[in-house]
Amino acid sequence: MSKKCIFCQIVKGETKAWKIYEDDLCVAFLDVFPVTEGHVIIATREHVEDVFSLKEEKTYMHLMKVARKVALAMKQHLGAEFVNIMTASGVIKHAFIHVVPRYDYDLMEAVPDMENKRAVDEDTMADLAKKLKLSGTKGGKKVAESRSERPTG
Ligand SMILES: [Zn+2]
Repeated sequence: MSKKCIFCQIVKGETKAWKIYEDDLCVAFLDVFPVTEGHVIIATREHVEDVFSLKEEKTYMHLMKVARKVALAMKQHLGAEFVNIMTASGVIKHAFIHVVPRYDYDLMEAVPDMENKRAVDEDTMADLAKKLKLSGTKGGKKVAESRSERPTG
């Protein structure tokens, strides 16, 4: 675990985030600088440099399973026409995947422009988080049943 790792801080609840899902292995939350509205990050609880460094394959498989749930929610609740699921190596050295809802199918590139990130206002983030909220199980208990309006720790 790294003290300066922002994703570890979010996973542990030390930094607020617009969480939409969590369970024993991962936490999903809205990217604060989304490439499209509703862009979600799914980060593992385990701190390793990237998804390919995860100790167990099942953790990697689990991320993909959660990504599918998130993608289906994006299609159903945000009207996404397609969803990109990808890994990217960037400044944050932590195992995570991007789930990016895509709109306006005719106008889109196959892969979103990851350099074109911009902050979205709080009300929009609250609305997106509410629409995407999924329930998971953590330590045998159901979490995220209530739809929070503000970032939670
Ligand atoms: Zn980390």
